[in-house]
Amino acid sequence: MTGPAPAAGLDAPASAARPAGFQPGAERGRLPASGDLALPVTGAKLLTDPDGRPLRVADLPADTDWVPLGTLDGVPAWATDLTTAGTLPGRARGWASLAAEVPEPHAALASRALAVITWRRTHRWCGACRAELTDKPGETARRCPDCGLYVPMQLSAAVLVAITRPGPAGHADELLLVRHATGPTGLWALVAGFVEAGETLEAAVHREVGEEVGLPVDRLAYFGSQPWAISGPGVLLAGFTARAADPHAEPVVDGRELTEARWFGVDALPAELPPAYSISRWLIDATVTAAGA
Ligand SMILES: [Zn+2]
Repeated sequence: MTGPAPAAGLDAPASAARPAGFQPGAERGRLPASGDLALPVTGAKLLTDPDGRPLRVADLPADTDWVPLGTLDGVPAWATDLTTAGTLPGRARGWASLAAEVPEPHAALASRALAVITWRRTHRWCGACRAELTDKPGETARRCPDCGLYVPMQLSAAVLVAITRPGPAGHADELLLVRHATGPTGLWALVAGFVEAGETLEAAVHREVGEEVGLPVDRLAYFGSQPWAISGPGVLLAGFTARAADPHAEPVVDGRELTEARWFGVDALPAELPPAYSISRWLIDATVTAAGA
């Protein structure tokens, strides 16, 4: 994994006994303390201080209903669902703009706050008997008091893959980049897609590459993963590298999901690449490094 090196933590007290970085958790072992980290969610945005750092529990009203998120550098972190942020201090930010500015553990904490709050909003009632769900202590899960249905928060796994092939004689390897029909259509991105129920991550890569660009690949290798808060809450991206099985085959796009797919020399990539905080970009940068370009 070649993600950006985590910068120095937030202004948490330094202590060797405290776990570094972000640790997800759902414990309510104690009540929120005034100095704990506070991540209020309003709509699909987070309220932060003007520099993008988390607020503190003391910044919000005493009767705020807090949901545990885990710890950041040992400091407990809590989320809450705000219907209005008008009277509160700070600034409402989308995850993408926040993740572009803050250290990676903080981006992961922010993605968990958005995911947990959005999940709670959309899982209020039992899907089997319509009773109101209650929280299951110590877990990011709810339970139906009437029929006992257990409702854990579930993740959506998606895969993405950096496919390379040898370049022309005397030239660097080539990397396959694609343009999507929706979302940021100007970006040159990697082939990606959601994993189907009953499918392995590896099978999902082969299927998505076949569906989106019509190429067989081999030498599939796991690269790393990233929690992702843009394509819906609870998305976990798993990155792979692969080699084109036929170095002479050209990609064919369907024109609906993808508008374009092209091989680029790794020493001549386009400028419109995915942002620096994304595993797409870490994969592309690692491919360039591995090719010695
Ligand atoms: Zn029920």
